[in-house]
Amino acid sequence: MHVLVLGAGQLARMMSLAGAPLNIHISAFDVVSGQIIHPLTQEVQGHGLENAIQQADVITAEFEHIPHDILHQCEQSGKLLPGAQAIKTGGDRRVEKALLDQAGVKNAKYFVINTRDDFDSAIRHVGIPMVLKSALGGYDGKGQWRLKSTADADKIWPEMQQCIEASDNQAIVAEEFVPFDREVSLVGARGKNGEWAVYPLSENIHTDGVLSLSTSIDAQALQQQAKTMFEAVANTLNYVGVLALEFFDVQGQLLVNEIAPRVHNSGHWTQQGADTCQFENHLRAVCGLPLGSTKLIRPTCMVNILGEDTLPSEILATEGCHIHWYGKEKRSGRKMGHINVSADYYAELERIICSLADVLSADAFPAVHQFASQHK
Ligand code: AMP
Repeated sequence: MHVLVLGAGQLARMMSLAGAPLNIHISAFDVVSGQIIHPLTQEVQGHGLENAIQQADVITAEFEHIPHDILHQCEQSGKLLPGAQAIKTGGDRRVEKALLDQAGVKNAKYFVINTRDDFDSAIRHVGIPMVLKSALGGYDGKGQWRLKSTADADKIWPEMQQCIEASDNQAIVAEEFVPFDREVSLVGARGKNGEWAVYPLSENIHTDGVLSLSTSIDAQALQQQAKTMFEAVANTLNYVGVLALEFFDVQGQLLVNEIAPRVHNSGHWTQQGADTCQFENHLRAVCGLPLGSTKLIRPTCMVNILGEDTLPSEILATEGCHIHWYGKEKRSGRKMGHINVSADYYAELERIICSLADVLSADAFPAVHQFASQHK
């Protein structure tokens, strides 16, 4: 099988690694350069999307912000999975919110803002404090504002207006501020025949809006709620592939924050922690193969490596630690790789993460140090 991935970053790279044992070969379309590249070697394999579409058995995507003309070109070939509508839903908060309502899934109260009058209506409808998010193009907490008092509305409006006017079809989605206890996410896969399976929930810690730690958790009541919501969203979208749902946990009640129509950073722990990793299961789903077991085999925590291109050698020498580099050029704050830390028991996993604080710097890995200070 030959799968063409729209996007040529680390997710395409990890799909390539997971697909090789199944004889599934991956080419990646770099949306910026228009080149077709090998996601591991970065070798240019050709130019022009049309040719690549013809050669592929299946087309999929590693991110949701793909120009719509490209999505439609791929959809017309009949090979794109998940479909263009599902991918577009993840890239537009207005469509995403409408989908969550349609699927009957709990999410934060919201209001779409196009004008200053809408902003006033949003304040009345949603209430204060509120979170304001650009409808298109926002990720990792970018393109967001917080409004804590009505008096500040005039102060932040010029920036919001600039954002709305900067690109076609842009708007701001105002959302009630959710006083959550923690953030969790559910990654799962749905096959062409409608069969679906989910992994255990992940608990996610963000640092400056970017995911820093993601750990498999054993939380049966939450897992059941999350599963029900996953089924509703995946079925409503007639989804094929891996889909991630991000939630706020508010005193044991889950509210969906957003969805990601793709393999997800909070599912990277499945490479060491689950029977079949999310990358393999995505490929199985889109290629029409049976899904692999999503069972937890070892409690696992993923530590994102942000803006660093080297690690102390002690990491490789630590039992249960696996490093996954993405082969990228170093840039401040950039996702450069991740470390998966696994253990037989959760208590042992905690002990190992605490021990990592002795070898990883607090500047580069603040979340590991915070974890260690809370658990020592
Ligand atoms: P997002 O890009 O929607 O994932 O938002 C980035 C981060 O902002 C989330 O991981 C939360 O920590 C926080 N956040 C987003 N929406 C809300 C909300 N409605 N209430 C409280 N915090 C939020």
